[in-house]
Amino acid sequence: MSTRTSPPTLPFAARADTLVGSVIDSSTSLLAAQSHDIVRFAMGSPAAEAIPTEVLAEIGTKTIGAGSPDAFDYAATEGDMPLRVALLDELDGTSDATTLERLTITSGGMQGLDLAFKIFVDPGDLVVVESPTYTNGSATALSYQADLLEVAVDDDGMVVEALPELVERAGRTPKVIYTIPTFQNPSGATLSLARREQLLELAREWGSMLIDDDPYGLLRFAGSEVPTLHELADGDPLVYSVRTFSKIVAPGLRVGWLDTDPSLQRLLINAKQAMDTCTNLPAQRLLTGFLTGGHLDTHLATQRREYRLRKETMKEALTEHFDGVARWTDPEGGFFLWMTFEPAIDTEKLFEVALAEGVAFIPGNAFSPDRRFPDALRMCFASTPPDRIREGLARLRSAVDRLAGS
Ligand code: PMP
Repeated sequence: MSTRTSPPTLPFAARADTLVGSVIDSSTSLLAAQSHDIVRFAMGSPAAEAIPTEVLAEIGTKTIGAGSPDAFDYAATEGDMPLRVALLDELDGTSDATTLERLTITSGGMQGLDLAFKIFVDPGDLVVVESPTYTNGSATALSYQADLLEVAVDDDGMVVEALPELVERAGRTPKVIYTIPTFQNPSGATLSLARREQLLELAREWGSMLIDDDPYGLLRFAGSEVPTLHELADGDPLVYSVRTFSKIVAPGLRVGWLDTDPSLQRLLINAKQAMDTCTNLPAQRLLTGFLTGGHLDTHLATQRREYRLRKETMKEALTEHFDGVARWTDPEGGFFLWMTFEPAIDTEKLFEVALAEGVAFIPGNAFSPDRRFPDALRMCFASTPPDRIREGLARLRSAVDRLAGS
């Protein structure tokens, strides 16, 4: 599953070498090219059944259908005002409550990350990332020629206590700290309240930007809420919050938002204008209708119930097939759990065998720029119905046995 190719001899910029791509995203095309039946634990997509297609189609007919040419025009770069207002309303009373001047609509969470690294990272700057981390986040930092410092993750998220010593050894403070604090991609771990506070303190001491990438926070199905870094920061401009509709409504819409200090918005707009002018307006109008129609809350409640069931099913199937062979995390929300084989198995080799057996996952090394997780893998439990989860885990066990026998 390599994402690197040998470029022909063209006059490339030095940065072309830093564009490492994403094994996760590439799995979409790889799996689409397969003709046999595959249980897909690879992509981090909401369940197909969870996409509210009927409601969206109805909203579409009303707001972007015939007679609505304005919905197909360019939009304001900071986002279509009706969506910003609807979002503000939706967030009121939550840990992400905010004000209008802090909100910028983006083309997915990915653009929020790209804007952050573009604005804050010069070549050679130190950027702290979790280990494992979200591949596309570290790839974006690398594309701006950052030097990455990987910090371990345990059941309480990033091991913040280890950070001061690692930074001292690196000989300079980080310009940016990138964290996925809630139901982390890929481990499923949630950063504890104590560590959130500690991390904020360190960011303040070092003057580091803290990128708070939290796409899964609204998908808690067990345990109790932890305040977002956004809330704990209480308006501190060092905290830059990236959010998206991809996991809570639909990833194909490609709409997300940023919650940042208002003083940053002009710069964000300038940078976004040089990228894509504005976020897709029909998609913004669909989301406005979804929010103002009051659909999000009921939709989230259904998703939470279903994802809880799916995670529990995956846990049971893991215990049935992998007890004594691997250990796994037990997330309280989100999409993913992280499995580590003991004794070690090369999960990149396992991927090839598993694909032939009809099951797909993402090998652990994809989540570490230093390739620190050859014996681990990420499973998305959210996209697959329970009976298929059981089938997929049985196939994975066959793949492990086949690999061991070969
Ligand atoms: N951050 C994290 C942690 C994610 O898991 C994802 C999606 N996989 C994103 C950002 C990107 O979100 P989007 O698809 O909206 O660009």
